Amino acid sequence: SKTPVGFIGLGNMGSHMAKNLLKHGYPVFASDIFPESCKEIQDLGAQVLDSPAEVADRADRIITMLPSSPNVIEVYTGLKGILKKVKKGSLLIDSSTIDPSVSKEMAKEAEKMGAVFMDAPVSGGVGAARSGKLTFMVGGVEEEFTAVQELLTCMGTNVVYCGEVGTGQAAKICNNMLLAISMIGTAETMNLGIRLGLDPKLLSKILNMSSGRCWSSDTYNPVPGVMEGVPSANNYQGGFGTTLMAKDLGLAQDTATNTKTAIPLGSVSHQIYRVMCARGYAQKDFSSVFQFLREEENQ
Ligand code: NAD
Repeated sequence: SKTPVGFIGLGNMGSHMAKNLLKHGYPVFASDIFPESCKEIQDLGAQVLDSPAEVADRADRIITMLPSSPNVIEVYTGLKGILKKVKKGSLLIDSSTIDPSVSKEMAKEAEKMGAVFMDAPVSGGVGAARSGKLTFMVGGVEEEFTAVQELLTCMGTNVVYCGEVGTGQAAKICNNMLLAISMIGTAETMNLGIRLGLDPKLLSKILNMSSGRCWSSDTYNPVPGVMEGVPSANNYQGGFGTTLMAKDLGLAQDTATNTKTAIPLGSVSHQIYRVMCARGYAQKDFSSVFQFLREEENQ
């Protein structure tokens, strides 16, 4: 039988990812700061433990899927963190989207304990997490990539090696900046079309057979009624939270500032998502920028 895998952070993404590990026959040791989040995975046969340290005591391969940098620092280096109990030779894979400098810091701390830390953020959303079709962008020591790949292919179709630790995050931050820009663009375009008297379903059909087509228009359309099975069809519940998108755009802004890089549209997108967080959209899916634009114009 297969050796167990630890999984910490059973939220919108992590719960599905851990389920896919179980499906592939890996025993799973799970932990989340909200025990409620572990209920479903427990019913499916995972063993739930109280803290990251306990997970590290039981499993020498651990995946973390947490909201942001402070949570990752806590889960790895906190009082009950992974590094308090980590075994020599352990492989630690962080799939959260965080600051690349924090990934580098965690790798240094892990190395002191004789463990290897890799960053492996994902792209694809909750649907892809559910169906095991995520894309993983991996940074860290190349010799460990095969071991990382073995686990990540249970949860994703594409596992891409990017380079030294932190480069997976760099790739992810770039992708999400483009995603934010395209989502806002799709939302304002659809809204303009509706105001010009076009049926939103017809307009999206035309866009998707024309040069305006993008993931935000053809897979994750922000307009209610255009597609089924996406957050816009469900009052923007679930999916990828506006706060998380604002966080990723903040990371893009930080890294752009550090490298003196101009990101005019990335910066505007960051501010739009920040304003949304302050106006009650924080917990909604990021495609709710469509609803936000409609409210703005009604004032
Ligand atoms: P989420 O908020 O739904 O889940 C995070 C989980 O981590 C929660 O269950 C929370 O209780 C747990 N957690 C927080 N602090 C903890 C701690 N100290 N110890 C243990 N557990 C803790 O977030 P999500 O949507 O699953 O996203 C996770 C990461 O993946 C984020 O970095 C996000 O940017 C990224 N991401 C999300 C999506 C998406 O579509 N949701 C897509 C790609 C990448």
